[in-house]
Amino acid sequence: MTEPKPGAPAEEQAREAQAAIGRLVRYALRHGLIKPADRDWALNALLDLFGFTEPGAAEETMPPEATGPDPVPAEAAPILAPLIDYGIAIGLAPDDTTTSRDLLDARIMGLLMPRPSETAEAFARQAEREGIEAATDAFYRLNIASNYVRMDRVRQNEYWVHASEYGGIEITINLSKPEKDPREIARLRSLPPSSYPKCLLCPANVGYAGRPDHPARQNLRVLPLVLNGEDWYFQYSPYVYYNEHSIVLRAGHVPMAITDATFTRLFDFLDRFPHYFVGSNADLPIVGGSILNHDHFQAGRHVFAMEKAELEETYRHPDYPGLSGGIVRWPMSVLRLAGPRREELEEAASALLAAWRDYADPSVGILPHTAREDGSRVPHNTITPIARRKPDGRYELDLVLRNNRTSDEHPDGIFHPHRHLHHIKKENIGLIEVMGLAVLPGRLKGELRQIAAILTGERPYDPEALADASHPLRRHADWLAELVRGHGTSLAEAEAERLLRDEVGRKFVEVLCDAGVFKRDAAGRAAFAAFAESAGWRRSRA
Ligand SMILES: [Zn+2]
Repeated sequence: MTEPKPGAPAEEQAREAQAAIGRLVRYALRHGLIKPADRDWALNALLDLFGFTEPGAAEETMPPEATGPDPVPAEAAPILAPLIDYGIAIGLAPDDTTTSRDLLDARIMGLLMPRPSETAEAFARQAEREGIEAATDAFYRLNIASNYVRMDRVRQNEYWVHASEYGGIEITINLSKPEKDPREIARLRSLPPSSYPKCLLCPANVGYAGRPDHPARQNLRVLPLVLNGEDWYFQYSPYVYYNEHSIVLRAGHVPMAITDATFTRLFDFLDRFPHYFVGSNADLPIVGGSILNHDHFQAGRHVFAMEKAELEETYRHPDYPGLSGGIVRWPMSVLRLAGPRREELEEAASALLAAWRDYADPSVGILPHTAREDGSRVPHNTITPIARRKPDGRYELDLVLRNNRTSDEHPDGIFHPHRHLHHIKKENIGLIEVMGLAVLPGRLKGELRQIAAILTGERPYDPEALADASHPLRRHADWLAELVRGHGTSLAEAEAERLLRDEVGRKFVEVLCDAGVFKRDAAGRAAFAAFAESAGWRRSRA
């Protein structure tokens, strides 16, 4: 135990912590995390965590009827801050880094959560009585109230819409996933390797206290689901890249695999959550998501630019008379199938997946396999599938064709953002970005601000300094030279911001074009049509 922080008398700090405990119990009651019968139980649990044997000031901040003169905040963060400070002062956390504070935060909120079974039962009951939409609304509110979804951080994200020839591309600079500071990185190096939970998605995370290298999840709640006859879970993502960003994860820690069963699972999910879209990342490195070792989908309530994009070619297939199909007007290569019967869609999607897995067209660089030295084959073709229900009840399935081959010219991936775009985006182009929402690294926020300062003349433009490897804008040097050449260094602040947002948007469209297997030129379009035809799809007039 460390001594309380110097400066604040220990007694005063303890009193403030007790007052915060009272406010937090009142907050939990008001937001429905606990019920009135849980009040004393929750209060006592919090008192115990902070080493208090009596409520003290909590009595004043927590009137018995849960209502009181002061309004209850919409989010827990402002109540938690002084409590976490006190926890650090009495040694509940080793230091005041964001990681340590987050571990303590989840530990505190975990004491105010319903049991996982209660959450699941309440969800099922509400879905039955009031409909699934009311049930997801309430569950989402619970995830925000519990501070599992950190809305205070999500609000710091940068967001704008870039008007492109493909529609409104959404750009976000995501600051909700806190970056580690150097002290933490140093400490992480000295930690022994751990294999529990096996990954960030395993259901074993529910209630886990966390470690410096693994988030605390006492305030995580998941809902059981059955998809394709298997046990799965539904939860929200703590990072909220879009509204009601959800993760659908398999109960077992099994690797991602896009198979015929994937389509069955996606439609099973839609039958239960018809107001959400659901999609899977691809199952190969470079073109897949960041987690390949645990099968999962992402879902949510948001309409992406890709969904709004229309067909530029329409197709029909003699074996699937109930389906309409086509090629979507989109920088990546998307086949869209739609129809009222999911069985027919599942069959058609499975046939297209099988056809694509082995499809070769060397004229446009598509090779489905390369040979290993031992003669075995490395697969390169896969699909990013996205499914949704339309207002008329039809199912719609977008199959985004992917290939993860590399070459000497493009060692990071031929169908991956090319080198000159890495200063904006070099990470995998996963499901969310495929659909037209860029999730750009947090570093960009500050970097764009510094670039704007140069374009407005507030800071000098010094190409020599930029060439230095240690310069924070080094990776943007070429771009910056181009911007200064084209627009000078005396832009108004608003002009500079508009220019940069537009430029980043244009670069992200280029990123998507790089990730497309069939390019938008005549040769690419002809090659895409040839693939569709090879799979039995025939061009039709709408
Ligand atoms: Zn796992």
